Amino acid sequence: MSNLPVEPEFQQAYNELVSTLENSTLFQKNPEYRTALKVVSIPERVVQFRVVWEDDKGELQVNRGYRVQFNSALGPYKGGLRFHPTVNLSILKFLGFEQIFKNALTGLMMGGGKGGADFDPKGKSDGEIRRFCVSFMRELSRHIGADTDVPAGDIGVSGREIGWMFGTYRAARNSFEGVLTGKGLSWGGSLIRPEATGYGLVYYVQHMLEYAGHGTFEGKRVALSGSGNVAQYAALKLIELGATVVSLSDSKGAIVAKDGGYVTPADIAAIADLKVDRKALTEFSVEDGRFTYIEGARPWVHVGQVDVALPCATQNEVSGEEAKALIAAGAKFIAEGSNMGCTQEAIDIFEADRVAKKGSKEAVWYAPGKASNAGGVAVSGLEMAQNSQRLAWTQEEVDNKLKDIMKNAFENGLNTAKEYVETAEGELPSLVAGSNIAGFVKVARAMHDQGDWWSKL
Ligand code: GLU
Repeated sequence: MSNLPVEPEFQQAYNELVSTLENSTLFQKNPEYRTALKVVSIPERVVQFRVVWEDDKGELQVNRGYRVQFNSALGPYKGGLRFHPTVNLSILKFLGFEQIFKNALTGLMMGGGKGGADFDPKGKSDGEIRRFCVSFMRELSRHIGADTDVPAGDIGVSGREIGWMFGTYRAARNSFEGVLTGKGLSWGGSLIRPEATGYGLVYYVQHMLEYAGHGTFEGKRVALSGSGNVAQYAALKLIELGATVVSLSDSKGAIVAKDGGYVTPADIAAIADLKVDRKALTEFSVEDGRFTYIEGARPWVHVGQVDVALPCATQNEVSGEEAKALIAAGAKFIAEGSNMGCTQEAIDIFEADRVAKKGSKEAVWYAPGKASNAGGVAVSGLEMAQNSQRLAWTQEEVDNKLKDIMKNAFENGLNTAKEYVETAEGELPSLVAGSNIAGFVKVARAMHDQGDWWSKL
């Protein structure tokens, strides 16, 4: 690949994966996988289209719509739709690329894809968002289907938007099918889907804590960023498990608990209400003195002593400097609820600490989003399974399956690291290397068997 970062986010995600494969014994054991890497890094197909819609003043508006159909070796393309002004092909290729390996780690039959538009839902009326969704799906509906490509939500797309897009698909194709996940419960949605990414993240970190000999979440201080669906349900599960949540954030700023303070379920409910109305955390009342609002800041350097940090906002939300500050603040477990939440500098700092402090309980352990946030798409996979059966499973059934999937994702990353990466006595295995290799090998093998690449080696 060219060294020119013409697609900087995609290049970053690609380099991050490749550096871990190169630093393992994978290519020594299987040199033919270099060919697989060349093939897997190019999307099978990219669809780009225009989305014309009418605003409340009757004026014409136009946006760019996309769907990156990256890899279908393990199943229909699967991955969310992001509506955000920063959306471009580099961002969607990075997200689609991550999604391929994340979906492989769930153990379910899903390929990888991602889509969206450079549409900004902030400041738009409900009517404008609905008209945008209808227009977007009118074109996208030609390219997707329950056995072809199954989009879901991501930043800027939640249950309401999924509803409007599902209705448009149903009408355009004259077909009621499981073409989107994150649907409403009365029309094909799955219980636990809204909670799944946040819950799954917490389940994953429970295994990290236990394996590293740090016990449970009871009494742990946890820094969170974000305040959307992922952060909200991660916080609620953490509180249920006896942890203290000390921060949340959005694109405008962060709220950080003052000495002895903490986020309560009532705070989360109030923030969830604000977010439904597309309002910022600036409108969350900090007048009772429990929180400080820090404008324009991310929480990491402001949170004080913490045991765990969970970035749940967006890509590149932890810099190298912030990684150092988190370690200095005592954070030992960093797991991404967002996709590519940590910069490469931050990952390098966490990984170096893990190696340097091997054998000590002070060692830092980092989990990449493609493993730790796989719970969301995993329950999307369970929603697809229920749709195929035309049945709905109970909350307990879905939650138990989610727990099993997160346990398997953790153990798969752990054991794959032990197999392919030199790990010293007492060293915590690299979850980033192990997860990357496990996901890559599963996809590469499926592609090989289906003739997507071949080798004379
Ligand atoms: N957008 C979520 C992710 O990044 C979920 C995708 C899905 O459910 O298809 O994994």
